[in-house]
Amino acid sequence: MTIVVNDPQAAEFGRAVSQFAQDVHITDQPVDRQAWKRAGALGLTGLEVPAAFGGSAGATYAWSAAAVDALATISHGLSSTFTISFDIATPYLVALGTPEVHQRWLPLLAQGEAIAALALTEPGAGSDLAALSTRAEPKGDHFFITGSKTFITNGSIADVIVVAARTSPQAGARGISLFAVDANSVGLTRRRIPTIGQNDCDTAELFFDQVEVPLSHLLGTLDEGFLHLMDRLPQERITSSIANLAQADVAMNLTLTQVRERQAFGRSLGSLQHNAFRLAELDAQRSAVRAHVDACIERLMNKTMSTADGARAKLLSARLENDILDLGMQLHGGSSFLEGTEINQRWIDGRVTRIWAGADEIMLHLIAKDLGL
Ligand SMILES: Cc1cc2nc3c(=O)[nH]c(=O)nc-3n(C[C@H](O)[C@H](O)[C@H](O)COP(=O)(O)OP(=O)(O)OC[C@H]3O[C@@H](n4cnc5c(N)ncnc54)[C@H](O)[C@@H]3O)c2cc1C
Repeated sequence: MTIVVNDPQAAEFGRAVSQFAQDVHITDQPVDRQAWKRAGALGLTGLEVPAAFGGSAGATYAWSAAAVDALATISHGLSSTFTISFDIATPYLVALGTPEVHQRWLPLLAQGEAIAALALTEPGAGSDLAALSTRAEPKGDHFFITGSKTFITNGSIADVIVVAARTSPQAGARGISLFAVDANSVGLTRRRIPTIGQNDCDTAELFFDQVEVPLSHLLGTLDEGFLHLMDRLPQERITSSIANLAQADVAMNLTLTQVRERQAFGRSLGSLQHNAFRLAELDAQRSAVRAHVDACIERLMNKTMSTADGARAKLLSARLENDILDLGMQLHGGSSFLEGTEINQRWIDGRVTRIWAGADEIMLHLIAKDLGL
């Protein structure tokens, strides 16, 4: 990332996060609370928190980009668990939270003493977020939330959850609000869901039964949660794109090593023109996608990035990552199908990137809209 390379402090921070990630990563289970506290001491969990609440003063999004790249290079799941908390959920609390929400959660999040999650998806509403049916009803000085959420990253380990719930039943997208919900609230139950990949990242279902949330924990404006989401999802897509490109790089390196070493028909697999050309094509695409993501990082920092810019980055990076991983599987031959090889672990971990944070088709929809279609 040019933007990171040109910012020596961000680049140095990325190296520190890389060392941290190597030290704490455990295959097949989420990192423990000690690792989160270490991330707090490093400044990772405070990247989006204002200095007044103990956040990492002076850090720009270039620091986040360097951190995401470093985490995802070690493991996609490791990157998912940390980025959902520090880069995706925490900014909602910072930008939209009341002073009470700020005081209660931001210092803990900055120190790595608390973990955050973002709960939008429901069993009946994923891509079509406006169809969500979890209800939040005001009564006295509280809202009461009832409904369920699914596929929530950090869902069973989070301390604070940004929850989207319906506050105006008939108003469609215009009747949704966001709340900061204490994950230990009475009436909230959580269940970890087994997944085929990223097992070093927690994914859970949440069930809300009249969960009491103080009025002061409303985030932003009542009924305007959908607009708040639209404002912030582009950053999530760039963060996803950075992780996707880190995976693409790892997959490309694993595959290049394989095709240089593996001999067939008296020569290396990589010297067979068909393989060499396919890898060369993907390498060229990788340069183009990286240039676009780099430009998006810059635009995000200048506040000039459009929704369609972010959609292009997410679409292209997820497809590229999966194309390289798939070719990597092919060129590793039968060994790619053995349990526990790095290429197949990355292949399994990477597949979800074309589905989550807005599926490919949702990205295409946003780009088509930008074209006036
Ligand atoms: C491991 C994991 C972690 C996740 N983490 C979170 C999280 O932290 N918070 C959260 O809120 N959600 C999270 N999600 C949910 C994720 O964002 C949704 O899975 C995603 O938005 C798709 O919704 P869905 O699964 O309901 O699929 P559906 O909406 O049912 O869509 C299924 C498929 O239909 C196709 N499709 C959808 N819309 C269109 C269209 N308009 N045109 C054509 N085809 C279309 C796409 O191929 C899509 O994959 C996570 C999911 C997974 C698997």
